[in-house]
Amino acid sequence: MSGSSEIFQNNNNPAVDFFLQQPDKSEYENLISSFFDASDDLVFILDKNGYFHFVNQSGLNDLGYSLDELRGKHFFSITNPEEKVKLSNAFQRILQFEGLVYFDCKLTSKLGNVITYDISAKALFGRGSINGMLSVAKNITKQHLLKERYTEILVKYTETERLLSIERNRLRQRKSVLEELNRLKSEFVSNISHEMRTPLASIIGFSETISSDPEMPVGMRKEFNEIIHSEGKRLAKLINDILDISKLESGEIELQRKEIDLVSVIKNAVHHADALASEKNITLRLTVEDQEVKIIGDEERLTQVFNCLLSNAIKFTKSGGRVTVMGQSLYKEYEIIISDTGIGIAQKDLPHIFEKFYRVSKYGNEIPGAGLGLVFSKQVIDLHKGLITVESEEDKGSTFVIKLPKRN
Ligand code: ADP
Repeated sequence: MSGSSEIFQNNNNPAVDFFLQQPDKSEYENLISSFFDASDDLVFILDKNGYFHFVNQSGLNDLGYSLDELRGKHFFSITNPEEKVKLSNAFQRILQFEGLVYFDCKLTSKLGNVITYDISAKALFGRGSINGMLSVAKNITKQHLLKERYTEILVKYTETERLLSIERNRLRQRKSVLEELNRLKSEFVSNISHEMRTPLASIIGFSETISSDPEMPVGMRKEFNEIIHSEGKRLAKLINDILDISKLESGEIELQRKEIDLVSVIKNAVHHADALASEKNITLRLTVEDQEVKIIGDEERLTQVFNCLLSNAIKFTKSGGRVTVMGQSLYKEYEIIISDTGIGIAQKDLPHIFEKFYRVSKYGNEIPGAGLGLVFSKQVIDLHKGLITVESEEDKGSTFVIKLPKRN
């Protein structure tokens, strides 16, 4: 093509005049036409207004038009309207630039088939001005379709990869959740066995001693029997606590909700703890308003919560200390504050004390308990749509705050 482009660049070139101004057949035109027809590509010439002036035989075969039909057509009339901006820019470059300009473009054949071409084009000059445009266009429809298919497959592949990686992560997470559950289960079983072993050892030990010594003094036998009885009760309490927690957790037992007076529930719990406090020489003080505070709740479960918090406060406070219970009405809630001047809880333990079997290990702290009371209390308060929080300082004391929604 380089020989022909030289011909077309030449001002006052007879070939240009011939092609653009004298459409009549002549030997020279036949020669040039045959030259272009020898190409498998679409070779076409547009006049300076963008109308087809010449199209080679291969191009006519591709597009399904005769040369006469195409001569009356504007180039844009067989292009894809969506490509108009892109093509206008390419034409602009052809007009401004003397060399070859490359672009791809979709042309619609007479039968409506869309053919994608890779075009190289340049302006034709005749008598000093642009006379038209010569283009050689390679049919790349197959490659284009393959490329589109490839892109489609690549998008699908990327999407599948993404979904697979999400699924892989999900499985990994599930595996770690299952491993954690398994760990918790083993921990739970080991804790429970440990908690049961102590009272069981006492029960077995003392009952064996009683039966192996028929001569045992009545007083000692009575004392051993009392130990067996209280250890048995401890065991029963532990089993009940575990059952309560698991039933509440699984939703097997629901709260028995009814309208109750929270103030009297608190007063009763404090009254109940009075004996325990005096036994340990601990001052137990209650400050609540005189009027009733109505809430919708489960009286029995709430009583268990206050009993647990009060017995903890007394259990972890030394003789001569103080336990204070205060109730006050807030805007939509009732707040109960249970404070003690006891041993307190270290900051590192505070976030864990509502976890099952968590007991603060403190040197010399032999106070019994399975570490389930606070778990149960939190569950009950949560089920009442309330809130339980704790603040504490070692050797200064602890303050548990419960907020429960009041009846509207
Ligand atoms: P436990 O039956 O062992 O008392 P809880 O769930 O009631 O179990 O309490 C868990 C742990 O939290 C206790 O073992 C204790 O270490 C700590 N704790 C709870 N209440 C108090 C308190 N008022 N003062 C100090 N420590 C407390």
